[in-house]
Amino acid sequence: MLAGKMMDEPLVITSFLRYAEKIYADVEVVSVTQDIPRHRTSYGECFGRSRRLANALTRLGVKNGDRIGTMAWNDHRHFEAYYAIPCMGAVCHTINPRLFAEQLLHIVNHAEDEWILTDPLFVPLFEKLHSQFNSVKGYIVLTDEAHMPETSLENVHCYEALLSGESDDFRWPEVDERSASSLCYTSGTTGNPKGVLYSHRSNFLHTMSSLQPNVFDMGVADSVLPVVPMFHANAWGVPYASPIVGAKLILPGPKLADGATLYDLMETENVTLALGVPTVWLALLEYLDQNKLTLTKLQRTIVGGAACPTSIMDQFRDKHDVFVHHAWGMTETSPLGSFTPDLRVCPDVSPDEIDTLRAKQGRPPFGISMKIVNPEGEELPWNGTDFGTLKVRGPYVCEGYFKLDHSEAHDEDGWFDTGDVATIDSRGFMEITDRVKDVIKSGGEWISSLELEEIAMQCEGVAEAAAVGINHPKWTERPLLVVVRKAGAHLDADTLKRWFDGKMAAWWMPDDIVFVDELPHTATGKLNKLAIRQTFAEHYADAT
Ligand code: AMP
Repeated sequence: MLAGKMMDEPLVITSFLRYAEKIYADVEVVSVTQDIPRHRTSYGECFGRSRRLANALTRLGVKNGDRIGTMAWNDHRHFEAYYAIPCMGAVCHTINPRLFAEQLLHIVNHAEDEWILTDPLFVPLFEKLHSQFNSVKGYIVLTDEAHMPETSLENVHCYEALLSGESDDFRWPEVDERSASSLCYTSGTTGNPKGVLYSHRSNFLHTMSSLQPNVFDMGVADSVLPVVPMFHANAWGVPYASPIVGAKLILPGPKLADGATLYDLMETENVTLALGVPTVWLALLEYLDQNKLTLTKLQRTIVGGAACPTSIMDQFRDKHDVFVHHAWGMTETSPLGSFTPDLRVCPDVSPDEIDTLRAKQGRPPFGISMKIVNPEGEELPWNGTDFGTLKVRGPYVCEGYFKLDHSEAHDEDGWFDTGDVATIDSRGFMEITDRVKDVIKSGGEWISSLELEEIAMQCEGVAEAAAVGINHPKWTERPLLVVVRKAGAHLDADTLKRWFDGKMAAWWMPDDIVFVDELPHTATGKLNKLAIRQTFAEHYADAT
């Protein structure tokens, strides 16, 4: 090999911090925290405090490779930890507070977390769990002394007190780009969560990929609001991407589901780009409707984590003049896997195609390769109709789960099996038709639960809908639609069935429609279809 003669600069998260500190030190970071309704700081100040935190953690004995847990909403303190921990060579393990107690025990013990940084809100939770943790030496509560909660926990420090005793002079070590930077467990509906262990390099490359013009396309003119939590798949990479392009960062703290706060932040902080899962937008749009409010600053939203109903896209477009980028991804893909560019400016997309294309999950960004395969593992054509298991690969796709066998994560051919079923069209637009385990198998044919839900969501009076396959004595499974009505709506099953008529193959028609007050969701805000199937497991037992 003739080696290239270029600098071998490591691709590490520390370079984001170093760059942003020089170029965008004064750009604002605005947070809502449990103790401060509107906190204002800057990248420069945050990174200075990351140095103080690194000094404090060093003093507490944290070493290279140690796992440090964080259980916190999106705010400046969590952001500071997002940098301090990996840049000092440790691993930032973001923990989802919505997990069940057994799952929390499993992941903290499995990760062998040494210290946990927690919002004051979660201190009572740790008081209950602490005696069953094997490795946790103590806690740092993310607040100031005035707001420190009373606690029975031992070895507890106040974040602000700890930082005030430290210098902001800390020499970041030269970490290896392939070393672990962060850890996030995927919270499936069954089995123990599995740990995705990101590296500095994977986060670096994911950040570069997400910032491409046909992807997040963020810059100095943007004010970015990640409504997606920082404990879920790195808040889709926003905490890394924003500082290096000088975008203002707005962190909503514990107010992720609070329409009034989100609206206020969006208007007063001039938010141009907001990111989140469909359920948060459903709640926000309903709040805006009820209060006759219009978003005047927001230009774009990025919606992913679950299929985005086109009714959400319509409301954003028609009432607020906001374009929705539909995106798909997984904790295992860092998470960006596909992205819908601004279809209005794509020369190869005609105006009358926009409505069809926006419902798809978009194109893989440069950095992700994808293919679809049939049950025999043969690759299927990109024709928009053949559907098969979606497989991906790339430098920010998970190769193996933390402390598990490599074969747990990828197939013999080296591709990662996403567990999703998809089509891909000739221009590379991918559409998820289902999770493999959620697809409805009726009489040997597949029915897309996502498509049934999408049609239901377009019907007036439907707030949320779930289509699930229920065991059926004759057809193996038949679809059941479970619906939450909008407040004040009087929709009935017959009207909804008439709505479905002619919008899909006749045999896809749900055999029954049930109305409920609310649907169960997973810890990451997705419909918990397993729980819905269990509730209605016997629904068609007597059918013929
Ligand atoms: P998680 O790792 O918890 O983020 O979950 C990843 C899974 O969420 C994917 O494998 C998909 O099943 C689902 N998902 C994410 N984004 C979308 C989307 N835009 N449309 C449909 N499903 C999605």
